[in-house]
Parts: sequence; structure tokens; C-alpha cells
Amino acid sequence: MGKQIECKNCTLGYEGVAVTEGINFTVSSGDYLCILGENGSGKSTLIKALLGLKPVMSGEIEWAESKQGEIGYLPQQTLVQRDFPASVREIVMSGCLGKGGFHPFYRKEDKELADKTMTQLGIKDLEKRCYRELSGGQQQRVLLARALCAAGKILLLDEPVTGLDPKAQNDLYELIASLNKGGITIIMVSHDIHAAVRYASHVLHIGSKKQLFFGTKEKYVNSRLGQSFILTEGGEENE
Ligand code: ADP
Repeated sequence: MGKQIECKNCTLGYEGVAVTEGINFTVSSGDYLCILGENGSGKSTLIKALLGLKPVMSGEIEWAESKQGEIGYLPQQTLVQRDFPASVREIVMSGCLGKGGFHPFYRKEDKELADKTMTQLGIKDLEKRCYRELSGGQQQRVLLARALCAAGKILLLDEPVTGLDPKAQNDLYELIASLNKGGITIIMVSHDIHAAVRYASHVLHIGSKKQLFFGTKEKYVNSRLGQSFILTEGGEENE
């Protein structure tokens, strides 16, 4: 399992003011990392850093076999995104733009990739539908397919189940887990301890101003921090 990302003693922040410090973790091919933390702890700031944007004040983020540009990103949904007037197929296909150098038209391989990905994610029969008429869960699948077309190796997901009903949340988590079993590396930002415990292989927990934990899910669950977070967020996983 090759190392894909290594974050070495990073301080992240804006305009000279640190949001969080001492961020150290590695992500290897096939891992499922869940980034946990309260609101305001710096999860989105870390995403920006992973996407190659500016918040790294010191330390280093090293990419191995994949480059920053090869990460598929599923941002938190906004109302604007939910109202996007395009067909499912158009949105999925747009993930292929810019792949393999600039090309103003879609290529045969782009169409094939979009077909394959829509089939894999169970949305092929929706391809002609207008995106904004779909349910929240279906919309997330479409955006996931788009991200997969853009970069098939690493997916960075920011609170992907926000706003979905419990069944759609569960379905989406299961789908993400199946992509991970198929070899795709997952980095998911969440405050959902249950999802972390159920699906992730590794946990990075960011507290106020600093990293509190990085390691395997099993170690996290058995740590005092993991135990207390599980208890505060709802005890049913703590059996
Ligand atoms: P989380 O995603 O965990 O809720 P964020 O990374 O969004 O946390 O925010 C962490 C801190 O960084 C917050 O105090 C927030 O106000 C601050 N912050 C976020 N974006 C910016 C920015 N562009 N400029 C200055 N401060 C920011």
C-alpha cells in the first residue's frame, strides 16, 4: 500500500493567525480517513490545504504517486448547487473536462468513463433528468460520479450526507464504503462519529487549535478521547 499523502507538522491558518497546529498524518492507497472535529476546529481549512490552496503556514504536505490535481472533491452542498439547471449526464461529464490536457470537446473515453461511472453509482437511468429535480441523495450520487470522473484515485468528501434523510445518509455511506473497497482512497470530513466508527480505517481528530489524535480507527475507539467523543455524540455505538 503506497503512501499517497503525508502531512508533516503543519500549522494551518489565515493571514498569520494559526487555526490549528501540529497536524501530522499519512494517507496510504486504499485508506478511509475520517477527519473529525467540532465546528470551527479547522476541518475545512485542512481541506483547502489538501486541495493545494493557501492555508499552510508552516510544515509540508507531500504528495506521492498522485498529484494534488488528481484529487476528486465533493464540496458541501449549497442551495446554489442544488438548483443547478443541467442534466445528470452533463454534470457527470463535466468532471472529465481538463483531464489529460485541455480539450474543448468531450472525447470518446470521456463518454465511456461517464457511462461506466453512472452505472457503478446506480444513476445511469437518471442521466437525462434535470439535476435540480432529483432528491438530495441522488444529487450527491451525481456529484460523486462527477468527482470520480475527474479523479479516480482519491476522493475528498466534505460532510457528504448533510441535509439527507437517514436512509439516504446510510445509502450514501454504503456507496462510499463500496468505492473504498474497490480501491479508492477516501478522505471524509465529518462530525459524525458513527460513520467514522463504522466505515473508516483511520481517524484524524482536530481539537481547538491542535491535532488531538491520528491513528487507526481501532486505536481511536479504544482511546479516552474516542470514548468520550462517542459518549457525547450519542452512546449507542459504545457497546
Ligand atoms: P470547520 O470546518 O472545522 O468548521 P473551519 O476550517 O471552517 O472549521 O474554520 C476554522 C477557523 O478558521 C474558524 O475560526 C474560522 O473563522 C477561520 N477561517 C475560516 N476561513 C477563513 C478565512 N478565509 N479567513 C480567515 N479565517 C478563516
